[in-house]
Amino acid sequence: MTNILVVIEISKGKIMGITKECLTVAKKLSDHLGADIEGVILGQNISDLAIEATKYGVKKIYKVDDALFAGVNILYHTRTLEALINEVNPSIVIAGASLYGQEVIPRLAARLGSALFASVTDISVDGDNLIGIHPLFEEKLFGTMSASKTQLNFITILGGNNPEVELDESLTGDISDFSPAISDNDKREAFIEEKIAKVSVDITKAKLIVAGGRGVGNKEKYAVIFEAAKTLGGEVGASRAAVDADWVPYDHEVGQTGKTITPDIYIACGISGAIQHIVGMRNSKTIIAVNTDEEAPILDVAHYAIIADLHEVLPELLKKV
Ligand SMILES: Cc1cc2nc3c(=O)[nH]c(=O)nc-3n(C[C@H](O)[C@H](O)[C@H](O)COP(=O)(O)OP(=O)(O)OC[C@H]3O[C@@H](n4cnc5c(N)ncnc54)[C@H](O)[C@@H]3O)c2cc1C
Repeated sequence: MTNILVVIEISKGKIMGITKECLTVAKKLSDHLGADIEGVILGQNISDLAIEATKYGVKKIYKVDDALFAGVNILYHTRTLEALINEVNPSIVIAGASLYGQEVIPRLAARLGSALFASVTDISVDGDNLIGIHPLFEEKLFGTMSASKTQLNFITILGGNNPEVELDESLTGDISDFSPAISDNDKREAFIEEKIAKVSVDITKAKLIVAGGRGVGNKEKYAVIFEAAKTLGGEVGASRAAVDADWVPYDHEVGQTGKTITPDIYIACGISGAIQHIVGMRNSKTIIAVNTDEEAPILDVAHYAIIADLHEVLPELLKKV
C-alpha cells in the first residue's frame, strides 16, 4: 500500500482552501494508486481542526500540537515533517504552493533526495510515472514534468485550479499525536505575534496609473510621477528598477514580481518595457509610453508614444489639466 500524505495548512484557526484543493488532488491520485490519504497538521490547540480534516476524507491524521508551532517556524516544520516522513514512509507528499508550501516542501525534497513537482496545476498517473503540469509566463506555456511513481515524490499544488473537497460529516479517521523533532540548537527564534503587513496602496483597482522607471533619474525627481498621478486622479505605478532603487515602495511595483493591473490608462514614463514589466500591464486599455528611446520595447505594446524627456513632457501635460 502506498500512502499519500497531505500537509494540512492552517491560517487564523481554519484549514486553508488550498489544502482542500490538495485533498481533491490526493483523492484523484488515491483512486488511481489504491492509496490511503493521510494528513499531517501542525499548530497549537488544533484538535478540532484534526477532527475536521478527517471529514474531508483523511483516513489518518498525524497531529503535532505544541506551543512551538503557534506560529510558523520553517525550521521546526521542516525538521518535524522530515522525521514524520521517515517514520510513516508515504509515497507522495502533497502541499499547497502557498508561501508556506514553497518554503517547506523544496527543503524536504532536497533533504530526502526526492523528486519535486513544484507549483503544478494538475498531476496524473501514466503507467509507472506521475505527470505534473506547471504553467509558465502567465499560462502562455505549460511545462510537463514526469517522475517515477515508485519513489517518494513531493508535489505542491497551485491554488485556484482544483475544486475544494467537500466536508462529509459521516466520515471518520484516526488521529495520532506526533512529537516535534526539534533540538535545542534549533531554537533560535521565538514566535511573538502575527501581523498582517499594511498595504499603502492597492494599484490593482486604479483606473489610471502613471508609472515611473529608472529613466526618472532619482528619488527627488520621482516626485513628478506622484504629482502627475495625483493631478490626473490616478495612482503611481513603478518598474522594479525604481522600487529596487528605493524611489517608491514595493506596493507600487508592476510586473512579474509586482502587481498585474488593467487600468483604463497606463502612462509608462522612463520604463524600457522588459518582459517582466510587460506581463503586469499589457492588458491596460490604453498604454501611453514616454521614453527618450524610440526603440524601447515598451513601444511594442504602447498605443501612443511620446519620444521625449519625461521631465519636459509631464510638466507640460500637467499645465494643461
Ligand atoms: C525574475 C525577475 C523578475 C522581475 N520582475 C519585474 C517586475 O515585476 N517588474 C519590473 O518592472 N521589472 C521586473 N524585473 C526587472 C526587469 O527585467 C527590468 O530590469 C526592469 O523592468 C527595468 O526597469 P526600467 O524599465 O525602469 O529600467 P531600464 O530598463 O533601465 O529602462 C529605463 C528606460 O528609461 C528611458 N529613459 C531614460 N531617461 C529618460 C527620460 N529622461 N525620459 C524618458 N525616458 C527615459 C530609457 O530609454 C529606458 O528605456 C524582473 C527581473 C527578473 C530577473
